[in-house]
Amino acid sequence: MEGLCLYSYVSNKNLYLKKCKEMLLLRFGEKHPTFYVHSFGCQGNIAEGEKIQGILSELGFSKAFDVNFADIVILNTCAIREKAECRVFTHLDNLINLKKVCTNKIIGICGCMVQQEHIKQRIEERFPAVDLLFGPHVIYKLPELLYFALCNKKGIYSNISNKESVQEGLPTLRGSHIKALVPIIYGCNNFCSYCIVPYVKGRERSRSFSAIVDEVKKLVENGYKDITLLGQNVNSYGKDLNVKDGFAKLLYELNKIDGNFRIRFMTSHPKDFSKSLIDVIASCNKVCRHFHLPVQSGCDRILKAMNRKYTVNEYLNILSFPPASAEWV
Ligand code: SF4
Repeated sequence: MEGLCLYSYVSNKNLYLKKCKEMLLLRFGEKHPTFYVHSFGCQGNIAEGEKIQGILSELGFSKAFDVNFADIVILNTCAIREKAECRVFTHLDNLINLKKVCTNKIIGICGCMVQQEHIKQRIEERFPAVDLLFGPHVIYKLPELLYFALCNKKGIYSNISNKESVQEGLPTLRGSHIKALVPIIYGCNNFCSYCIVPYVKGRERSRSFSAIVDEVKKLVENGYKDITLLGQNVNSYGKDLNVKDGFAKLLYELNKIDGNFRIRFMTSHPKDFSKSLIDVIASCNKVCRHFHLPVQSGCDRILKAMNRKYTVNEYLNILSFPPASAEWV
């Protein structure tokens, strides 16, 4: 069960990592430059922020705990909630003022907001001092974009392209030594009528089975105890790889990994929730016996208007099978 990986950060990393490090040396001398990454929104964004931190660490940056003292500040944005968008612009106003005093400060904006053309244009027009703009699907390009910024050009790349779908081998600097977020599928195909995700994150792209199993094995070897598998629609994992019950099979395989740890996942879509998935959850002792299954509405007319693709009865049916495992749901 292999996913599409058209770009490997590992095999291509020497291209711009080296050039970028040389430019950083010119700008900062022997002093270690520092980064501050602020991720807004969902766990998926937090996981992507950890990859940005990993790349910056690999470039020689160390983490700053105060935005005022960071040499590079990256706002990893969310487009789902208007409040999060407003907060980004407030942060940006403050950062631009800071940059007037600390002229060497590099400012980057990434994440879902940047994927909307009107927001990207607004940032470019209102905040020309922003150095980096890039979407969530091209995090691996950060060394290249940063290199351009260090050469006093703009590092801008925000178009969704399904050719650049799954990135493997990116370094990760996690926020915890116990809990780990592991994305298994990116994007969404569902087009719920109220949601922007398919437009900013693209269509569903599953990571390869082997890449996920290897990552979880390494995490467990390194002492992680709590693994959360992530996806906008986590239980449609594997469909784009033409694998039936791919998510149930993945849980089953992960459960076989030796070690004392537990597995969670979020978020599930009712239309993809199957009896075989419930059976696997019930039979796998490392898989936590709880799941998030958004109802959204108790009215079929509203569910249809939301384009949720299930009815109230279909939702209730999920909760009723199988009787043996229903007691723990
Ligand atoms: S399934 Fe979730 S992420 Fe996908 S369109 Fe619907 S609400 Fe948005």
